[in-house]
Amino acid sequence: MLSERVTAGVELHERWMREALRAAREAESRQEVPIGACIVLNGEAIATAGNRTRTDCDPTAHAEILALRQAAGSVGNYRLAGATVYATIEPCAMCAGALIQARVPLLVYGAVDERAGAVDTHFQICNSKELNHRVEVISGVLEIECRELMQEFFKAKRSEVRYQTSAKTDV
Ligand code: ZN
Repeated sequence: MLSERVTAGVELHERWMREALRAAREAESRQEVPIGACIVLNGEAIATAGNRTRTDCDPTAHAEILALRQAAGSVGNYRLAGATVYATIEPCAMCAGALIQARVPLLVYGAVDERAGAVDTHFQICNSKELNHRVEVISGVLEIECRELMQEFFKAKRSEVRYQTSAKTDV
């Protein structure tokens, strides 16, 4: 069953990743780091969320955590057996840990996070023999779009900082 999910058509994964990307763009419009997540169960999206750390003043309000909460609430179970989590960016240590807690069988993500990614880049939390659950991982789905959204956001932030710095020195 798992292999069926893993080998499900690329188009299907792209379709749900587009939902996650939509949430990421919505987060960006609130000046949040543009990361989005979407959770699918039995062919239906049961949760979609973008980052809200600044909006909610909550360090745990990452897209994946918010989507997991929504999904668990919607199915009435904190274990999400059979669900697939789509995330635009490789989850961090907190979110990868939450995937383990929720017993999510499959994670699909877009682009790696070389700084904080805890699935493939660092820690390999989803495939650790120290933990009591493994999460199957598919990466690189709509990778370019997912990565560019982040790069553009940070590029704009950097030029904002430069502008503010130069404006200050001008005064
Ligand atoms: Zn996270």
